[in-house]
Amino acid sequence: MEKNQEILRIEDLNVSINNKLIIKGLNLRINKGEIHAIMGKNGSGKSTLAKVISGHPMYEITKGKIFFKSKDITNEEPDIRSHMGIFLGFQYPVEVSGVSNIDFLRLAYNSKRKEIDKQQIDPLAFFDLVSKELKNINMDPLFLNRSLNEGFSGGEKKKNEILQMSLLKSELSVLDEIDSGLDVDALKDIAQNINTFHSSNNAILFITHYQKLIEYIKPDYVHIMDNGIIKLSGNKELATKIDKYGYEYVI
Ligand code: ADP
Ligand code: MG
Repeated sequence: MEKNQEILRIEDLNVSINNKLIIKGLNLRINKGEIHAIMGKNGSGKSTLAKVISGHPMYEITKGKIFFKSKDITNEEPDIRSHMGIFLGFQYPVEVSGVSNIDFLRLAYNSKRKEIDKQQIDPLAFFDLVSKELKNINMDPLFLNRSLNEGFSGGEKKKNEILQMSLLKSELSVLDEIDSGLDVDALKDIAQNINTFHSSNNAILFITHYQKLIEYIKPDYVHIMDNGIIKLSGNKELATKIDKYGYEYVI
């Protein structure tokens, strides 16, 4: 395999919402096979970055560019980005009443298959496939027939995001605070699932406040975001320092 194959490159990114500048000249490069973590104080722009990578329409890119596998996707629609291989696990997954979880998952799965000219799979075959994935993350099959995220606890919503990630097999998965609301066991399950999912052919960018998750996942790089830029990058020792001394001191 070609080494250092680039998956994501962000150049001088500036992003506004409601005319307020949130991201202020951010640069980031992620290669195939790498795991990157982003930490940083609340309000530093982490979720904004995650949403902009996936093409959220509410945010305006006022300057800079985003490349996915060397293709300029700065103005690309979110569904195209998803089909190209970008997945976003939300910090706050939405509840959709009346849409069954398994129908939603199958639709997402099949629409991606369609895009890559593969045959769609029927409900029964999909049930087998999703059941295997459920087992991997210790999720109760009962969640399949409930409405998408409706009444799910914080941790259950996060597991459901991981389930989507595992099914879609995206090349770049952006996970926004996938650990929030999880108990210790669920955190371990999810970390283990991320580690199993990760390979030399994909890349993961996760946002977290917890050193514990950094210890489980062992990212190649840890970035500290502050006031709309990446202020500091290092290895996982940076997270240990943050845990010990706090953001203010380290930045
Ligand atoms: P983080 O995820 O690092 O906590 P966010 O990206 O959620 O930070 O938010 C960054 C900043 O952008 C915050 O000051 C937040 O209030 C502001 N912001 C986010 N969304 C909106 C919005 N829809 N309208 C106005 N300001 C927003
Ligand atoms: Mg956030």
